[in-house]
Amino acid sequence: MHKKIGVAYIPVLHKGYIDFLESLIQESVEKLYLVGDEILEAHEELDYINRKDRLRAVPVETMKASLEATTNFDIEILTPTTVVSAETIVTPREDIGEVIVQTYFTDKVIEYRNVFVRRDKHTIGEESHPEAAEIISMDSFSKEIWDDVLAEAEKSADWYRRVGAALVKDGKVVYVTHNEHMPEEQLPNIEGDARALFKKGVHINYVTAAHAEVAAIGAAAREGIATEGAELFVTDFPCPYCARLIAKAGIAKVYFLKGYAVLEGDVFLKEANVEVIKVSLT
Ligand SMILES: [Zn+2]
Repeated sequence: MHKKIGVAYIPVLHKGYIDFLESLIQESVEKLYLVGDEILEAHEELDYINRKDRLRAVPVETMKASLEATTNFDIEILTPTTVVSAETIVTPREDIGEVIVQTYFTDKVIEYRNVFVRRDKHTIGEESHPEAAEIISMDSFSKEIWDDVLAEAEKSADWYRRVGAALVKDGKVVYVTHNEHMPEEQLPNIEGDARALFKKGVHINYVTAAHAEVAAIGAAAREGIATEGAELFVTDFPCPYCARLIAKAGIAKVYFLKGYAVLEGDVFLKEANVEVIKVSLT
């Protein structure tokens, strides 16, 4: 019986999987099971992988032959009836690995390894600290605008997050807005807030609020005020929807106080030449 074996679904040999295999070699793991098509077909929750990957994945037999030619692993294709004798299973932390573990290896010790060079369910809500071109302190800036923005944020009925924003054009405040639930400002207090059921950054599509940035840019659109070259002061770093809107609206600068970026919100602001400046409250 092997003490430790590797089990992996390897549709393509990218850096993440090569690092995974190398970590096995370093631990003198000799046996590797490749997840076969029968397993993908046997689990409804893996159907999306089955459909998506059938078009582009290297067939498991080809992957087996290719790895046998380039490594010393003793490789077998894992099927729903394979009997695996090992104490510990090392597997990539991804949807498929978790389904397999919960179905076939409930009596084993599991070691998950990260192989991701792309998104998965676990990393989708990951927060990144937005890269700011510069960090300036509140004192060196128009304190009056921030006072307005912070007071506006207080008006939000969203107990999950109160956000204030000001659209500034040619040095003048055009709009000061806050995040507001629709169709009712008090919606979260009546129906409960759908977003509050999830971790920060996850299921952002369940938002029922018009974000402060949307409210400000929407008001400008309604009144025919060009947003090109305008500046946006916002308490929290924009969510990905708002970041796209800001980029498309031609906003030149975003000043923010706190928060995080998800889904590369900070990256595409930068690529759209929106200057991102973090303002320190102290
Ligand atoms: Zn937003």
